[in-house]
Amino acid sequence: MLPVNHTRLAKILEKPTAPFREGHVLATARAILDEAKVPYFMDPAKNLVVGVKSKAEYSRLTKAKSPEPVRIFIAHTDHPGFHGVEWVDADLLAFKWHGGSPTAHLEGGKVWLADSEGFVGYGRVEKAEMIESGRAIDKGLIRVKDLRRQTKAADLFGGFGFRDTHWREGDLLYTKAADDLIGVYAILETALALKAKKSKAPFIGLLTRAEEVGFIGAIAHFELGWLKGAKRKLLAVSLETSRTLPGAEIGKGPVVRLGDRKSVFDSGGTQVFSDLAARILPGKHQRRIMDGGSCEGTAATAYGIPTIAISVPLGNYHNQSFEGGPDAAPANGPAPEFVSVADIEGLTALTQAIMAPKLPWNQPFSGTVAAFKKSLKNYGKLLKTGP
Ligand SMILES: [Zn+2]
Repeated sequence: MLPVNHTRLAKILEKPTAPFREGHVLATARAILDEAKVPYFMDPAKNLVVGVKSKAEYSRLTKAKSPEPVRIFIAHTDHPGFHGVEWVDADLLAFKWHGGSPTAHLEGGKVWLADSEGFVGYGRVEKAEMIESGRAIDKGLIRVKDLRRQTKAADLFGGFGFRDTHWREGDLLYTKAADDLIGVYAILETALALKAKKSKAPFIGLLTRAEEVGFIGAIAHFELGWLKGAKRKLLAVSLETSRTLPGAEIGKGPVVRLGDRKSVFDSGGTQVFSDLAARILPGKHQRRIMDGGSCEGTAATAYGIPTIAISVPLGNYHNQSFEGGPDAAPANGPAPEFVSVADIEGLTALTQAIMAPKLPWNQPFSGTVAAFKKSLKNYGKLLKTGP
C-alpha cells in the first residue's frame, strides 16, 4: 500500500480555500504536478485538468479506440466558507456564506481570513443569520483582529479556523478542511504514481471548483461538451470525503460508494470496483450508499457518464460538530473536520487499483453469471421435481 506522503498532503491542507476562491489549492496542485512533470491545463471554468496537456490531447484520449475506459477522477478544491462583502466598520466585515456550515454556537466562533496572496488574519463571528431552512449560514458580521494588510472587503474570503490548519492525533488527522482536499491529494498521488511507472493508462484528473454550492465547476466542465464525441467507454470516479454514517465508519477503510443522496451509481462499474476492493483491501473497506450529501458523481451520472465513487468517512462534516473532539464547540457548533490516515492510504490504494489494465469493465457481471450458472446446475435435478 502507498504510504501517505505527509509533506504533499500538508502543502494542500495548509492552503485557504472557499467556493470560487480555490486559487491557492490549484496553485499548489500545479506546483506538485510541475515538479513531477505531469501535464495539466485549465479548462475555461478554471478547473484543473490533470494528466493531459491540452484540450486537443484530452480529445485524442477520449477518441482513441480502446477497450480500456478513460478513467476520469473528480475531486473538488473548495470547501464551505465565506466571501467578504463590505467593511461596516474599521474592523467589522460583512460576509456572505457559501455552502454547508455549522448551525449552532456560531457567535464568537474563530474564523481565518485570506486574500489572493494567502492568509491575512483572524476574526470572530459577531453575528450570523441562517438561510430559511436553518441548515446553513446565509450572511453575517465578523470582528476582524490582526489583519496583516489592509484588504478590500470583496478580496477577502475565509472559513472556520482552529488551532492549526491541520494536525495529527494518532491515526486521526484534524483539519479546517478535509472535504475535499483529501480527494484532491488522492488524484495528485495517482497521477504521480502513474508518471513514476511511465504508465500509459488512460487517466484524466479533474480538480473542480465550487462543488459546495452545487458542483458548479463540474457542471461547467461537462457543459463544454468535450466528452460528447468520445469513441470509447468513459468511467467517472468521484472522490469525496463524506459524512460518516452507520456502516461507513472512520478508520474502517474507504467506502465503495454505491450512490449519494441524489442518485445511485453505475451498477456494472460498481460491481467491478467492489470486487476489486475486496481483493485489494480485504476486510479494510466499506460499502454503502453515502446519502449524507450529494456529490459530483451525481453530476457525471446526469451527464450520461457511467460513474463509480469512493468516500473517505469524515468526522464533523462541513465543520459542524457532530462527533465533537479536540477544538470542537458543543453539538452542531464549529469544529475541525477529521479523517483517518489509514483510510487515506486505502483511498490511494483503490485509485491506483482502478487504473490497472484489463479489469472486466465491459463484462462486469461475467463472474456473477458464471456463479449463477453453477448454482442452476447444482439445483438442476431438484428443479425438475415438483411442483
Ligand atoms: Zn465534498
